[in-house]
Amino acid sequence: MRWEWYWCYRHRQRALIVGLAVLLAVLLIPAGVVGTRTAPASDRPAELWVKFIDVGQGAAVLIRTPEDRFILVDGGERQAGEQVLLPYLSRLGVKQLDLVVATHPHSDHIGGLLPVLERVPVGRVLADGQVHTSYTYESFLRLIERKRIPFELARAGKQLEVGSVRLLVLHPAEPLLPSGLNSNSVVLRIEYGQVAFLLTGDLDIPGEAAVLRRKVAPATVLQVAHHGSSDSTSCGWLKAVQPAIVVIQSGAGNPYGHPHRETLQRLAACAPRARIYRNDQHGTVTLITDGREVRVETEKTPPGTSKALDTDRLPSSNRLDLNRATREELEALPGIGPVLAQRIIDYRQEHPFVTVDQLLEIKGIGPKLLETLRPLVMVGQSERED
Ligand SMILES: [Zn+2]
Repeated sequence: MRWEWYWCYRHRQRALIVGLAVLLAVLLIPAGVVGTRTAPASDRPAELWVKFIDVGQGAAVLIRTPEDRFILVDGGERQAGEQVLLPYLSRLGVKQLDLVVATHPHSDHIGGLLPVLERVPVGRVLADGQVHTSYTYESFLRLIERKRIPFELARAGKQLEVGSVRLLVLHPAEPLLPSGLNSNSVVLRIEYGQVAFLLTGDLDIPGEAAVLRRKVAPATVLQVAHHGSSDSTSCGWLKAVQPAIVVIQSGAGNPYGHPHRETLQRLAACAPRARIYRNDQHGTVTLITDGREVRVETEKTPPGTSKALDTDRLPSSNRLDLNRATREELEALPGIGPVLAQRIIDYRQEHPFVTVDQLLEIKGIGPKLLETLRPLVMVGQSERED
């Protein structure tokens, strides 16, 4: 008994010393030392970082847990994997990846995973497992088999833990949606302390609706789906997720016009407080969190875009055209519900807008609401002139 007590005492004493040392280390390390550099784990506070890597047109997210374990979600196109991802991983000193996630079989997501799986040891692969017959996808599946990497299907309800970080699969669920590969993109919720990230692949509006039907909790950070395409990121989705920060992974000068104007409008109207970061403007975007607060480091700082996208500074190209806006887009405006959206549509059939001030002629819109709407809307060519 005495020996046991002594052991416990010594054990407690040692735990106390270790605890004090950890506390001192955390207190003494100044904020801001964790950036793209990797320092020895013992020198760092317990922080998670999530890097939205600029892979051009495509998506790739690298996550480092506080325990120095790495997760890669998508890898951009094959060329980006070779020319961006591999050099990046080597610069960061990443020797192995605990987990690789493929959200869906399109080449701008899995192409870059091929050179990574070829050269970097990977603990396991989590993927949507949809049927698709492209050369890239078949090569991806064959490589996993040849390397004997454990493969797991991502299905709603699945939970994983990597170090102190929890990953929840929110989507897809069985049976898969019939509306295509994007609809069944893997949606991952990554939780560390009180901070949550939502990664969405190329999820489209039918996919979002399916996730919403199963309920989605608010998240601090949202990866805007499908590179900011207008066929994703509905107002209902944004209102449910309530992100404080959104990241759009679109390539500079991409031929699809991503992110689409309609998506930026919906972000301004339905997530007005979210700070917007874009790979095409900010380069690689790194979010660092201690589980309570998030700080952002960007590779580039384009003028005016590192701050919040204030609605009063929204350029006219991002405003909603009162003569052309759909009912859904109008409903997404602050203070405009289904009734007022219908009244605006009815009104413009008779009187195409030539000035925003005409909104005052619609029952239910007063001067105060007009001033709220003024920075968000514009008057373009009327529908009747088409
Ligand atoms: Zn894509």
